[in-house]
Amino acid sequence: MRHVVITGGASGLGRAMAERFIAEGDKVAICDADPDAVAAFSDAFPGQIACVADVTDEAQMTAFFHQVDTAWNHVDVVCANAGTGGPAGRIEELSLSDWNRCVEVNLSGTFLTCRWAAGKMRAAGSGLIVLTSSTAGQFGYPLRSPYATAKWGIVGLTKTLAMELGPAGVRVNAICPGAVEGDRMDRVVAMESAASGKSVDEVRAAYVKGVSLRTWVTADDVADTVLWLASPHATRISGQIVAIDGHTETLVP
Ligand code: NAD
Repeated sequence: MRHVVITGGASGLGRAMAERFIAEGDKVAICDADPDAVAAFSDAFPGQIACVADVTDEAQMTAFFHQVDTAWNHVDVVCANAGTGGPAGRIEELSLSDWNRCVEVNLSGTFLTCRWAAGKMRAAGSGLIVLTSSTAGQFGYPLRSPYATAKWGIVGLTKTLAMELGPAGVRVNAICPGAVEGDRMDRVVAMESAASGKSVDEVRAAYVKGVSLRTWVTADDVADTVLWLASPHATRISGQIVAIDGHTETLVP
């Protein structure tokens, strides 16, 4: 049985990961900024830890980590998953506050989670950290500069932490989901449609056209990859940037 921490774990990809680990018999602790989603998670999985905490709030995250430290004596897997899509628009149309919030949630929130995980796992001499980047962390992404910047930053953090922690026996990898079917991409497509003047159908079609397998992906595809990284089949996999995307060729519509 593994002990698994997932940020942004009450819905979307984080919840899909949590459900899969729980189905394997693992113990899961999630935090999420959305109290209603946390309450729904707690109702569905009463035996697990679920905490309302914003990944950018050091005091809230310290309280969440304290809850985990008190309940468990070690952690096997930490998924630094919480993220936000940020605004859509040409850079000259973006506000500093929208830019800062996108970078803060995607990057600084991940820093706080990784800092805590690194300390625990280095001391234990084992562990796996999975950071959630995006195909936006591998390609230029017009109209989404804050998001692309933050997700490229996650790649830099992953490669660096894999080097800092590898000698201590800790693995660090990033996942890069492509466009995932679900509420979040519905919101993103609507936002990009408004920013570009293209119809929703045109924006959706452009995502498919830029992918070799001509497909979107599912939350289960992403969770499968995280489960594989946490399995005995991936014990020599570290410092890797693993795309789950049907092979993106371009994010340019
Ligand atoms: P989602 O919006 O469906 O769920 C994200 C969850 O994170 C929500 O429960 C939300 O409340 C929580 N959250 C948001 N900001 C938070 C914060 N500051 N602190 C704590 N929790 C917070 O999104 P998702 O699709 O599940 O995205 C999860 C991760 O995957 C993100 O890092 C996202 O950038 C990345 N990603 C998503 C897609 C996609 O197509 N959905 C593609 C590539 C990467």
